[in-house]
Amino acid sequence: MFVTRFAPSPTGYLHRGHAFSALTAHAAARAADGRFLLRIEDTDATRCRPEFEAAIFEDLAWLGLSWESPVRRQSDHLADHEAALARLEAEGLLYRCFRTRAELAEEIAGAPHGPMAAFRGGPLSPDEEARRLAAGEPFAWRLWLDAAERRLGGFGGLSFEADGRIVQARPEIGGDVVLARKDVPVAYHLAATVDDAIQGITHVIRGEDLIEAAHVQRLLQALLGLPTPVYRHHRLILGPDGRRLAKRDRSETLHSLRERGMSAQNVRKDLGFD
Ligand code: GLU
Repeated sequence: MFVTRFAPSPTGYLHRGHAFSALTAHAAARAADGRFLLRIEDTDATRCRPEFEAAIFEDLAWLGLSWESPVRRQSDHLADHEAALARLEAEGLLYRCFRTRAELAEEIAGAPHGPMAAFRGGPLSPDEEARRLAAGEPFAWRLWLDAAERRLGGFGGLSFEADGRIVQARPEIGGDVVLARKDVPVAYHLAATVDDAIQGITHVIRGEDLIEAAHVQRLLQALLGLPTPVYRHHRLILGPDGRRLAKRDRSETLHSLRERGMSAQNVRKDLGFD
């Protein structure tokens, strides 16, 4: 059975790009006689707001979409994510990173290559770590790629199907990703990977801005013994300035289009649906 999902984060109003994503996944489920699920990705309580969650339901219903209930709200299932985090920690695949943003930026600026996201490090010495913990310094849990590589005997055996071809996973492109932080009990990659498995997602359909995420998530699947879905990426919807839409583009939110009297049918047509 084909099962796909739309998984927005309630950190702002949905825009036309989200509508395109939801419509694409919904249409694929329908064409395959499969299931379409909605998941609320709200593990970052510092950025999520209840009014944005309410607007997600309103906007999607306005667009004419329907989804299964109950809807999985990630913050209601933190125990599932924390169990996965604990397992990775117990297996020596995580380390505590005490670096501040400024320290990271400086370290990376001095590195031969690689953007901030591709940071790689490793655990501190036990003494240094104990000292910082005792001092109450905040830390993030990072996935330790070197340890993961040793555990799996390299990443060569990791592949996945994306957009109709078999892709060799290169989790290095994400670096030692942050999987939890002081104020975020579980970060996106881990929560999404665990939930895709729990919800039995067979097809992850999302924007091409998330192509790299599949490489990281494929590694987490291997480390946690979870199944690998098929990935499909769709084009991004651009704003009038030719740039991809972001939540800060207020005029393009479905909420504001609706308030300006645009019909859902027009929005759908504009995006190439019926
Ligand atoms: N919550 C993510 C976002 O809004 C979705 C990522 C995904 O579909 O895996 O960008």
